[in-house]
Amino acid sequence: MKPKKRLKSIAKMTDDCATLLQKLVRVKAADSDGICSCVTCGKRAHWKEMQGGHFIERGRLATKLVEENIHPQCPGCNCFRMKMSSCVLDYRRYMVEVYGEEGVTDLEDLSRTTKKHTRSDLVEMKIDLSKRLKELGC
Ligand SMILES: [Zn+2]
Repeated sequence: MKPKKRLKSIAKMTDDCATLLQKLVRVKAADSDGICSCVTCGKRAHWKEMQGGHFIERGRLATKLVEENIHPQCPGCNCFRMKMSSCVLDYRRYMVEVYGEEGVTDLEDLSRTTKKHTRSDLVEMKIDLSKRLKELGC
């Protein structure tokens, strides 16, 4: 008997979308030379050397795939400095400048909910993100 093709798990599909989103925010922020700035320390580098850093940690499922929750960060900030409150506060300051206090509070409230993504949501999102990346030349 031929083994049935196994569907990807929701968790795996969520991670696939997060990866695309983390790429998209960097490409979107980059200038014509491909350079973008880390939102927490200001370091400038090519988007390929940067990471897509979550404001609210990616462990929170409800905001893991929210585009406004992800911005370019250098690896130092994303991997290490975000463990320090000073860096988190720098990120929050940036968020307030861009989205306003209300926008940031809405995002924080959303992160505390148990919103779940369905398989069809994720399929659609992946198609949309791939299309947008392609339009940006990636
Ligand atoms: Zn940085």
